Amino acid sequence: MSQPSSVSACPVCGRPRDVKLRPFCSKRCADIDLAKWLRGEYAIPGAPPGEEGAPDDGEPSEFH
Ligand SMILES: [Zn+2]
Repeated sequence: MSQPSSVSACPVCGRPRDVKLRPFCSKRCADIDLAKWLRGEYAIPGAPPGEEGAPDDGEPSEFH
């Protein structure tokens, strides 16, 4: 099989990656990916999303 398209594509936008900026196609994509990485790695401790905390659809029922 010869489909290197998916292999040599930028993981962020899917464009052909740049040799100098691999595995990304641009500095911007590199920053975006880094930001995602940091967000996932350094998740706010004590505040897991979807876990304990204020209810999502909790509208103020006792609102006058
Ligand atoms: Zn890209």
